[in-house]
Amino acid sequence: AAKAAGGNQWHWFDPGMDRAADEAARMAAELSQALLRDQIFVLFQPIVDLNTGTAVGAEMLMRWRHPEQGLIPPDVFIPVAERTGTIIELGRWVFEQACLRSADWDRRFGTAAPEKISVNVSARQLADPAFVATVRDILDRTGADPAHLMIEVTETAVLDTGDALTRLDALRALGLRVALDDFGTGHSSLSLLLDLPVDVLKVDKSFVSGEAAEHAGAIVVRNLIGFTDDFGIDAVAEGVETSAQADRLRSAGYRLAQGYLFGRPMPAADFEASFRRATAAA
Ligand code: C2E
Ligand code: MG
Ligand code: MG
Ligand code: MG
Repeated sequence: AAKAAGGNQWHWFDPGMDRAADEAARMAAELSQALLRDQIFVLFQPIVDLNTGTAVGAEMLMRWRHPEQGLIPPDVFIPVAERTGTIIELGRWVFEQACLRSADWDRRFGTAAPEKISVNVSARQLADPAFVATVRDILDRTGADPAHLMIEVTETAVLDTGDALTRLDALRALGLRVALDDFGTGHSSLSLLLDLPVDVLKVDKSFVSGEAAEHAGAIVVRNLIGFTDDFGIDAVAEGVETSAQADRLRSAGYRLAQGYLFGRPMPAADFEASFRRATAAA
């Protein structure tokens, strides 16, 4: 209701706009306290081998349980955290959780543990000059094996951040893997993207299970695997929801996938149970 009825004029003193601004400010303030108040937690979504159906890794996804509003999705609160800078603190915490979890699984399950835990890193984190040192500190402190951790960054975060390439190189030098997330949703050319220092491409779910997946998306998915193979990059198909989609990916030559078909994001204990079962059955 910010727009005047019938016309194109905007009202500066629209009470609705005021309220929206107030709410945004309140959310930002509450988010800055959320970690301290134990309202932030993480879930794990399996990344599976399409040929065996077993989980070879997990993506760690952040959640905010708001005391009054309930669960607030990351698509809502991550942009707020990005804008205010709270993402730096949240990101540090999430990476530490990933390291602690990885070290714990390695210790308890050895080679039966998932090979990798993936953590999302936002543009603002990547732009932080202290980012690489923070990662190194957390690795040291937790004793996690860097080879068992993966950082997920988006094309926009990488291309908009001046020192991103140097930082990604530094992370890889520490032994971490780097994945390019939501591949295909940006506007860069394929050749530019395949030049980035990344180990894994995560093909965006819009190509896999979105509306476009039946037509243009299917063509992208089918052809992309040839490029990634030639460039020595792993491909993970995101957002796999049906077994028909999984079949299509498998016959196109994909080995790795993630999506509701294989498992929703779940608490660590549930994820653990799934690979413990797989271990027992083997
Ligand atoms: P993302 O990194 O691309 O994560 C994948 C998203 O797709 C997750 O949404 C996941 O729940 C969802 N998804 C997985 N399988 C399917 C499927 O089969 N169908 C559909 N429709 N969706 C599926 P989620 O958990 O809501 O996270 C949304 C985004 O928020 C993430 O997208 C990521 O960009 C951001 N995010 C989440 N956790 C963190 C974090 O710890 N740090 C940062 N910086 N960003 C995060
Ligand atoms: Mg991701
Ligand atoms: Mg993604
Ligand atoms: Mg995303």
